[in-house]
Amino acid sequence: MKERDRTEDALPILAAAASGQKRNQMNRTSEEKFDIREEIKLIPKVAVLVAVLLIVAWEALLFLVLFPHEKHPAPALPIQILVGLLSGSVLAFFILLVVYVNRDAKRRGMNSTLWTVLVLLVPDAIGFIIYFVVRQPVMARCPQCGATVTPSFNYCPKCRSALHPVCPKCHRAIRAGDTFCPYCASELKASA
Ligand SMILES: [Zn+2]
Ligand SMILES: [Zn+2]
Repeated sequence: MKERDRTEDALPILAAAASGQKRNQMNRTSEEKFDIREEIKLIPKVAVLVAVLLIVAWEALLFLVLFPHEKHPAPALPIQILVGLLSGSVLAFFILLVVYVNRDAKRRGMNSTLWTVLVLLVPDAIGFIIYFVVRQPVMARCPQCGATVTPSFNYCPKCRSALHPVCPKCHRAIRAGDTFCPYCASELKASA
């Protein structure tokens, strides 16, 4: 009798979990995938354009002002080109990484202004290192009401719907295929 009750309890929750499984996979912290194309999409085209303009300006300054007015004999042309390419690349990478941190912090519910200032001001890229170590998981959306939720939440704080498959007995997150709850040993299989 008791077993039956549990199974009936589990049915709607497991069914809801199964239907939302695909979306839920994106919500899970442990399953956050790194896709470089998705990360690059965070950087707006305007920022790329500004970066290109800044690099052009930097190269112009280098080749039209700095090299010709060099007190010592100007470096050989191949050296000039190499210095121009290297410094330009570093500059571009730095600008785009700052923009990335600004956008990335926003979607993780972190203080984007504070982190942008930090990575800009802390020397030797230490600000970037700290950022990538401490950054929070990407915020997820509740599939029912669309509220922004922390990926580790089991239930939506706005509408109470289950965000992951959860044990009907102890309400902790379980994996969709599990037969027994790993925390309280309740039977989970809805259909045998
Ligand atoms: Zn909700
Ligand atoms: Zn349980």
